[in-house]
Amino acid sequence: MKSVNNNLIFTPENINTSSESGVSIVLRNQEFLTSKASEFLIFEEDDLKWSEMEFKDNQFIGYLDNKPCFLQELTDGSLIAEEATLSPLRNLLGRIPDSLFTICSRAIQLSDWKRNNQFCGVCGSKMNSHETERAMFCDCNNLMIYPRISPCVIVLVTNGEDLLLAHNKNFPGTFYSTLAGFIEAGESAESAIHREIYEEVKVTVKNIKYYGSQSWPFPSQLMLGYHAEYLDGNIQPDGVEIDKAEWFNYKNLPQVPTGNISISGQLIESYIKKLSP
Ligand SMILES: [Zn+2]
Repeated sequence: MKSVNNNLIFTPENINTSSESGVSIVLRNQEFLTSKASEFLIFEEDDLKWSEMEFKDNQFIGYLDNKPCFLQELTDGSLIAEEATLSPLRNLLGRIPDSLFTICSRAIQLSDWKRNNQFCGVCGSKMNSHETERAMFCDCNNLMIYPRISPCVIVLVTNGEDLLLAHNKNFPGTFYSTLAGFIEAGESAESAIHREIYEEVKVTVKNIKYYGSQSWPFPSQLMLGYHAEYLDGNIQPDGVEIDKAEWFNYKNLPQVPTGNISISGQLIESYIKKLSP
C-alpha cells in the first residue's frame, strides 16, 4: 500500500507510456475503497494481485509521482477486505489532500462516462474504447464520444460590506451559498452570469471579475468562479431553486461553505480578506 500525503503530484494523462509498475485506486459502484481508519487507499500492483477482489474494468488515468495510476473497478458483488470500507466521493471532500481529490474527481467522471457510453447513439451498436484517444468509438459515423464536462458559473455578488447569499431548496437548514448555474449551449460565461443572477434573485450586476475554477464532479461540472458588484434591483428569490436570498454584512454571515471544500467558500473568504486584510 502506498502512503498518502499532501505532497503527491498527479498529472492527468490519457495514454500510458511508462514501463514502470503502477498504482491503483479502487471503485465499486461509484464508491471508493478506503480503510476503516478513514485513510484513502492507493494500492501497489502486488496488493491487488493477492487480494480476493474481483475486477471488471480498469482505466489509465494519469501519473502519480511519475508512476502510472489506474482506476480499477470492482464487480458489483466483489468482496472487499475486512479492514476496508466504501466511501462516496462527497464524504471524502475536505478530508483528503487536494491532489487525491483531483484523482478521485477524474476517476469517477471517467468511470461514469464509460458506463454511460456503452452503445452508439446513432446506430445502437456496442461502442469500443478508441486506441489512441480517450474516447468511445463507433465505426458507423466515425463517432467519437469524449468525456464531457458541464461548465457552470458561480458568483459572489457584493455591495460594499454586504454579500448576497442564497439558500437553495436542497440545502440543509440555514446553510447559505453563492449563486450558481449552468452555462447554456451557445452562451458566454458572462451572459450566463447576468441571466442566472437575474433569474434566481431578480438583481442585476456589473464589474464581473474572474476568480478561478474548480472541478466539481457531482456529477461532472467545471465551476468558473467570479466576483460581481451589485447594480440594481430588489432581491426576489425565484421560489423554484432558491427559497431565500439576502444581503449579509461580512461580519455577520450565516453558515457558508469553507474555502478548503469549494470555490464558493474561496469566493467568500477572498472578498472578506479584501475588506479586512
Ligand atoms: Zn454507431
